[in-house]
Order: sequence, then C-alpha cells, then structure tokens
Amino acid sequence: MKKVILTGDRPTGKLHLGHYAGSLKNRVKLQNSNEYDMYILIADLQALTDNSRDPEKIRKSLKEVALDYLAVGLDPSKVTIFVQSQVPELTELTMHYLNLVTLARLKRNPTIKTEIKERGFGESVPVGFLTYPISQAADITAFKADLVPVGEDQLPLIEQCKEIVHTFNNIYGNVLKEPQAVLADNQACIRLPGIDGKAKMSKSLGNCIYLSDNSEIVRKKIMSMFTDPEHVRVEDPGKVENNPVFTYLDAFATDEDFQKYLPEYKNLDELKAHYQRGGLGDVKVKKFLFQVVEDILTPIRETRAYYEEHMELVDKMLEDGSKKARLVVQETLKDVRDAIGINYFSKND
Ligand code: ATP
Ligand code: MG
Repeated sequence: MKKVILTGDRPTGKLHLGHYAGSLKNRVKLQNSNEYDMYILIADLQALTDNSRDPEKIRKSLKEVALDYLAVGLDPSKVTIFVQSQVPELTELTMHYLNLVTLARLKRNPTIKTEIKERGFGESVPVGFLTYPISQAADITAFKADLVPVGEDQLPLIEQCKEIVHTFNNIYGNVLKEPQAVLADNQACIRLPGIDGKAKMSKSLGNCIYLSDNSEIVRKKIMSMFTDPEHVRVEDPGKVENNPVFTYLDAFATDEDFQKYLPEYKNLDELKAHYQRGGLGDVKVKKFLFQVVEDILTPIRETRAYYEEHMELVDKMLEDGSKKARLVVQETLKDVRDAIGINYFSKND
C-alpha cells in the first residue's frame, strides 16, 4: 500500500515564495514520484478561527489558494485537493480529541504562543483559535497519514498530534496512526524569511513575495529588500548570515543560474565570499536574485492565468476532491466511534 501524505494551507491570502520553498515545491515532487497517496487540505475552518469577522476574505482566498496549487503544478488527477468545511466528519473527530488535551498543554505550544502574540490576542484569544492544533490533529489522523510535509513553524503542532494519537490509542485501542513531519531538505527553505528580514515570510506579517505578483512588483519588492545594514558602501565587507537576499539565493539559485546570469562566479559560495570580502554591491546581488525568482515565477503565472479563465475547472476540482476525501474520513470516524463505543443503534456500525 502507498504511504499517505496530508498537507494543507490556510486560505487567508494568496500563497507566497515561503510556501513554495517550504512545501509546494516538495509536494509537486512527491506527486510526480507516484509513490504516495496525497491529500491536500484547504483549511478554511482553521482560517476562520482568527478571521471570524471577515468570512469574505476566507471565501475569496479559498479560490486563490486553489489557483496557486494548480499554478505550481499540483494535478487533481494525481492528488486529492479538498476543502476542510466540506468534510463535516472532521469536526466530529475534533470534538472527540478535545477531551484528550489540557488547556495548560495548548497554552505551552510554542507556535500558538507566538501566533497569539503576533495577533495581539492575549487572554481574548478565541477558543477556536487556541484549539486549532486539535482540529489539525483530526485532519491528519482522519487520513491515517504517514507523512506531513511542513515548514519548521509546524513542528510543535505535529508533536501535539502525536500526543493525541498516543492518548487515544491508550484509552480506546489501536485505531489512530502516528504521523511523521517531513521538512524540506534545504535548510533555507524550512523557514524562508520575509523581505523585511523578519524570521518568517508570512501572509499575516505582510512581508511576502506572492506567487501571483507580477514582474514589476517582484522587482520592486526584491530591490527594496532588507540586507546587511552595515554594508553601506560597495567596498564594505558584508554579512551573508541573516541577510534574506542570500537566504533566498540559498533557497533558489542553482549553478546553472550563475552560468546564465552571473558567469563571473561559478556558484553561490564564490558570490558570498566576494560579498564578505567587500567590493560587491547589494544592487548587483538583488538583480541576480530577481532573475532567479522570475525564472521560477514566470511559468507559475502563465498556468495561473489559464485557470483564472477557467474557474469552473477549479470549482470542480474542489467539489470532487471534497467528496473523495469525505469517504475516507467517514471510514476513520466509524473506527473512532466504534472504539469509543458510541455506535448504539446500527448493528454494523
Ligand atoms: P498565516 O499567516 O495565515 O498563518 P502562513 O503564511 O503562515 O499564513 P500557512 O497557511 O499557515 O501560511 O502555512 C502553510 C504551510 O506553509 C505550513 O506548512 C507552513 O509551515 C509553510 N510555510 C508558511 N510560511 C513559510 C515560510 N516562510 N517558509 C517555509 N514554510 C512556510
Ligand atoms: Mg501560519
């Protein structure tokens, strides 16, 4: 039997280069290997936990995320792309898991702690938001997923999911499968920084290059990127650590890019060495980065434009995917109900 993969995104906006580096690129690779059964969830219910006053944003973003998926090459004939809210059984699973996690444990989760701070929630955090790691555990376990490809910020959430699996299986018997997180193998991709130099490119922080940004916007964003603040004049020695321009090159530049656009350097190591010695200006490095990023984004933009003209295909993909996903989740929920013993009325239930 093929191993099962579950991944997903919150429909809170269009997808960005951080998603591409940390997850989308890898998903396309896994899809094309034909070795996995992959489910991709657009987590609209989770997105509503911190956007309950702005449901229109979630509705709109759902389509944008679906377009971004198709644009990067995810193929609904090979993977199942579905919408969380259209699989209500996920919500019942969440209900069962809510009883297995304490408030203290939720509040200790470092990802949640950071996100509560970023959003300025304090004690006024919506209960739905605080408990989204539990709903995420339902999403993962509903598919008996073996692997969950994620960015680094998600690791504490996978830990939480594993704990729920252990607790459930200990109490009710061996029903749930323990998932493994899979990080991108390139260190720079695990958590791509923002163009402002902040630790993470994130929709909520407004420091993103979106996959659907046009050339001119991408150029402006890259040219205005944060670099080493002490690298003032070209002759000054510069730092490549915590310099997002170099982190992006670590994530995306290949030796072929150097041959094509900067043949005076063999590879990124040589470019970095020159920057560190002094004598290399930020503008030159940024222009190179722009060309590298444009080569990635051009085909993505073209595919996106095609599907923007064929939204009926996007809707059909989401509807069919949700139906298919629902059948799988119904099976798991039946096992869970049986294990808990709340199958009172149906003989075969
Ligand atoms: P939000 O700000 O609404 O939480 P986000 O930009 O963090 O949005 P998510 O939808 O929460 O995006 O994340 C989806 C997936 O993309 C997760 O696996 C996450 O780890 C990964 N991811 C998000 N941002 C980055 C990044 N900057 N670098 C690497 N992976 C990322
Ligand atoms: Mg996030």
